[in-house]
Amino acid sequence: MKDTIKFVLDESRIPRYWYNIVADLPSPPPPVLHPGTMKPVGPGDLAPIFPMSLIAQEVTAEREVEIPGPVRDIYRQWRPTALFRARRLEQALETPARIYYKYEGVSPAGSHKPNTAVAQAYYNREAGVKRIATETGAGQWGSSLAFAGALFGIEVQVFMVRVSYDQKPYRRALMEAYGARCVPSPSTETQSGRAVLAKDARHPGSLGIAISEAVEVAASREDTKYALGSVLNHVLLHQTVIGQEALAQFDLAGDYPDVIVGCTGGGSNFAGIVFPFLGAQLRGGRKVRVVAIEPAACPSLTRGKYAYDFGDTAHLTPLAKMHTLGSTFTPPGFHAGGLRYHGMAPLVSHVKELGLIEAGAREQTKCFEAGVRFARAEGIVPAPEANHAVLGAIDEALRCREEGVSRAILFNLCGHGHFDMQAYIDYFAGKLTDQQYDEAELAMALAGLPSVRAA
Ligand SMILES: *Cc1c(COP(=O)(O)O)cnc(C)c1O
Repeated sequence: MKDTIKFVLDESRIPRYWYNIVADLPSPPPPVLHPGTMKPVGPGDLAPIFPMSLIAQEVTAEREVEIPGPVRDIYRQWRPTALFRARRLEQALETPARIYYKYEGVSPAGSHKPNTAVAQAYYNREAGVKRIATETGAGQWGSSLAFAGALFGIEVQVFMVRVSYDQKPYRRALMEAYGARCVPSPSTETQSGRAVLAKDARHPGSLGIAISEAVEVAASREDTKYALGSVLNHVLLHQTVIGQEALAQFDLAGDYPDVIVGCTGGGSNFAGIVFPFLGAQLRGGRKVRVVAIEPAACPSLTRGKYAYDFGDTAHLTPLAKMHTLGSTFTPPGFHAGGLRYHGMAPLVSHVKELGLIEAGAREQTKCFEAGVRFARAEGIVPAPEANHAVLGAIDEALRCREEGVSRAILFNLCGHGHFDMQAYIDYFAGKLTDQQYDEAELAMALAGLPSVRAA
């Protein structure tokens, strides 16, 4: 159809498999190491905090991992999500580019996160787990896991980064509506939390600290496991339903992306949309340019070091090789709370090292400007995190205008901003500033990276 703006697939087209890019990479990512022995971790090391089924997915090299029926049944509520052609935005930008976006804000929690939350809750339920402890930044992950926990009868405890807890009270209410318990982190409920509070009673928190608290709770209780909303291989795997659907939708559109843009916090929504396209390229298909956009105030891909580091502040996790700002780095309290993580997913870091993707960093006021521009053309108010992808896509579209060429640009609109309106209020009031991270703190955090001799 000429002028089509929405490419929809019916329920039967929900992917039956998650796609694992490891099967198609020229080399596998470096192994995750045990911090005590510096040897690759085995399944037994992770068993106290994850069910075996998810540990198996963490290390598998199989190209396709079957999606269990009960998970696919729940996906049917919002999947397949639509692929939109942003024709009004194209007009507003006077660009010859063809801009497409995949909209993940239609899930119950309002983002891509339920794609993995539902899967993780399912595997935990199958393993007989009664409680899950987790962390959340802006609250997207906490509310997604709370939703999934409610469906599978699992109790959920969420450690929410304090600055977001204060900025986003409605996210907390959403978690409570789903039956979860939400505590601001650092908290007095764990040793790791108390240690941070002892040094700074008003510490704003960070994802690294909240992860320490949740892992500590999971490791110390027999009936409790831990769940992570990003970074790990199995999380990225679950998100690949996004890109697989997009591939089929580009078939419907009779088009193919020249450029794909995604925002990166831990890397899961980005990997979710990008990896199926990169896989097609690696198997001899069309080449696609891929751009990851991260916040300038927490720039792990563009300013971090590619090195082994801990996933959390208290050093309870194994060591993963990734682009990192150092596990003790606390980013400033900007509004895209979901992007305030010191590290990048090992798999995303690895494809960056392989030269398969590019990365750029953007300031938050420019991101909000782009988000508002998008909302005024397309009607959807993006989450502050998603604004990074919107800006990246607009930059590409303006480049097409300058060069007088029409390229197809795809970006992941990974969530809506309905629970983030305080950030927009601040933006309209001119109160949002472009916060700088502390260079000295970054240097110190990087200097403190664990030393790992080359194997
Ligand atoms: C959590 C979140 C992110 C950041 O996490 P990734 O793993 O990098 O995707 C980005 N956008 C939204 C809407 C989120 O909820």
